[in-house]
Amino acid sequence: MAEFLGTQLDYIFFFYGLAFILLGAVCFTIKNHDPAGLPWTLLAAFGIAHGVNEWLDLLALSIGDAPAFALLRLAVMAASYVLLLEFARLGVIRLGGKAPGRWIYGPLVLSIALGGVIGGLNSANAVARYALGLPGGMGAGLAFAVLSRRLAGSERRWAVSVGAALALYGIAAGAIVPPAPFWPAAVLNHDAFFRATGIPIQLLRGLLACWMAFSLWAFGQQKILLAMVSSVYAGKLYNRSVLTFVPVLVGLLGLGWGLAEYLGRTAQQQMQHDAMDSLSLLASRLRIETTTADDVARSMAESPWVLPVLTGGGEHARDEANMVADLSNGAAGGDGIAYLMDGSGTVLASSNRWKSDSLMGKNYSFRPYFQQAIAGGAAYYYALGVTTGERGYYASHPVRDKAGRIAGVAVIKKPLDPIEADLGRVEHSFLIAPQGVVFLASDSDMLFKTLWPLPAETQLTLTRSRQFGDLRYAPLLEQEIVDGSWIVFKGERHYAGRHYTGHDGWSFVVLKTPRAVAARRLFGITITLLFAVLTVIYLMGMERLLHDKIALEQQLELKERARKLDLQATTDPLTGVFNRLKFNQELAAEMDRSARYKTPLALVMYDIDHFKAVNDTHGHHAGDQVLTGMCRIVAGHIRQTDVLTRWGGEEFMILAPNCDGRQAFELAEKLRRLIEQFVFAKVGTVTCSFGVTQFQDGDTAETLTSRADTAMYAAKRNGRNRVVRYEPAPGQPS
Ligand code: GH3
Ligand code: MG
Ligand code: MG
Repeated sequence: MAEFLGTQLDYIFFFYGLAFILLGAVCFTIKNHDPAGLPWTLLAAFGIAHGVNEWLDLLALSIGDAPAFALLRLAVMAASYVLLLEFARLGVIRLGGKAPGRWIYGPLVLSIALGGVIGGLNSANAVARYALGLPGGMGAGLAFAVLSRRLAGSERRWAVSVGAALALYGIAAGAIVPPAPFWPAAVLNHDAFFRATGIPIQLLRGLLACWMAFSLWAFGQQKILLAMVSSVYAGKLYNRSVLTFVPVLVGLLGLGWGLAEYLGRTAQQQMQHDAMDSLSLLASRLRIETTTADDVARSMAESPWVLPVLTGGGEHARDEANMVADLSNGAAGGDGIAYLMDGSGTVLASSNRWKSDSLMGKNYSFRPYFQQAIAGGAAYYYALGVTTGERGYYASHPVRDKAGRIAGVAVIKKPLDPIEADLGRVEHSFLIAPQGVVFLASDSDMLFKTLWPLPAETQLTLTRSRQFGDLRYAPLLEQEIVDGSWIVFKGERHYAGRHYTGHDGWSFVVLKTPRAVAARRLFGITITLLFAVLTVIYLMGMERLLHDKIALEQQLELKERARKLDLQATTDPLTGVFNRLKFNQELAAEMDRSARYKTPLALVMYDIDHFKAVNDTHGHHAGDQVLTGMCRIVAGHIRQTDVLTRWGGEEFMILAPNCDGRQAFELAEKLRRLIEQFVFAKVGTVTCSFGVTQFQDGDTAETLTSRADTAMYAAKRNGRNRVVRYEPAPGQPS
């Protein structure tokens, strides 16, 4: 698990950064709804600066770091923590608490610079975290804790949650620091945390950042929702946004992780294949060189012209042997040397005799290739030339006389420069001795270094053998390289491939940086970021839309409610026609209009005849049904502009604008007949008496209505079920 998480640091940095950027965005929205609250802009600036800082860390991890880049990241980090600390400081002050003045940044920043000067970048980083990150996180947590005490319900719970996340983040980012050579950074640091828990501290910080961003977002939603009237709508908005935002974002991050993993894995497989291909190519090149040398050494040993010089032949025998050596060297490629040694290890014949470092007459009996061949077998040896200092492959073969006794040794030495030239084409590739000594290398600074620790006695024998050059016993690795393993080489993680040449533990090693893997993962992460940004923009737009839609719905609902209230206030609940309040308003308006425009206005009043008897005979309910039924009939036969009103009990008024007394009389007569003919369920037929009058100059509401009333009573008196129109002569009191 720890191993796996170690390879996921890039993605951890990515979502960690994303969480902070989102936190910043959320702060801006909260600020719009809570301008007088905490200094949200500072917290937003912190979120964005710190998010950018995490993404810079990601770049350093994926593409590579440099001192100037590390300094820039330190500056961005310190600046982000200054913003956080300032948020905490101002927040606490705004909430009525006490906090030190801005002067504190002087000594704090000075201490970071001092840490950098004394202990380097890592120390400065650690000091910045202690001096700014820790108090910043804890202080911001405190500000939210104080704020929460003034709030209630969900808003309060989320404020507490934000505060807790901030305080914990302050500890994770401000107390657990990069390793630095002073207390407590030397003890409590990233490495110690990883060793103890198996979790990179960045993962914990990233999760805390997610918690922070989420709580703050939920807190902001509460703030926005509290501004909305209806709690039902608030809940709807809340659920919709929580239920879509979180799963969509989590799903997207999951998919993005899968993409980065997939791209990284394919790149890694590619890298491993590349390593394998390079290794087998190098091995086959070496095999061609060495088997040629082996073959030529054997054929030289078996040549009939080499034996005479070994068995006491004269000048002529030596010439013949020299010629064989020349021919053999040519057959082996011409770039090495061929020579013949007698039983004591002294060179009796050789190629390249004209060279100043000619081997003629020298004794190499101490060389293993001689000792093994003289003992009866073909042998090989990788070593530096004793005379030339040139690295080569020595192939030796015993020379036998006719009786089969060993008379000497034939040797072919092949220089290994062509192989080293091949290695030069493969980055970080080496030919290494069984003991781990680098014999040929693509990087010249690696030559004759031991890759892993050697026991002291092995070191001693190696030095004495003069097989290698100046050996440097400063092992780079803790243990022997295994094919397909991961090692740290020159401070960077490398993939190691190892391929044995078939020569007793000699092997090629190639080390590959996983740069391509990191780059491919970064590509996956960038795509994820792109989609995350688009998704966030889309979701925020959707949320905005939903918010607007709900606001509109609320507005419509309010209007509808107002309309209902208005209706209730102006209509009669039993019959649904207007009530007296509405009638009075309408009458006043119509009388004004009629007086001003000289348009006629008439009033019809009617009352059900002997309605008491209807109630008494058929019951109150049946009476009610007569009232509603009659209103339906009348409403269906008057103009849209006429105002039908229940005046009281079973008395009604019809205000008829643009209608004179005569027309109103006709209307009343029409209604009278309609009613008379209608058969009500249970009750049967009923009749009404009508009074009609027209508005005249000088009329008040009282004079007009009382005239209609007088007319109606006249109709009652005259025998009911009739219409009486009452129009006094102009100027005469009604
Ligand atoms: P008239 O022809 O003289 O108008 O005789 P009437 O019986 O209709 O006279 P009156 O005005 O004395 O009686 C009115 C009756 O109307 C009294 C009351 O029981 C009845 N009434 C008033 N409002 C309602 C109502 O909302 N529902 C019912 N069912 N009856 C009502
Ligand atoms: Mg009546
Ligand atoms: Mg009445």
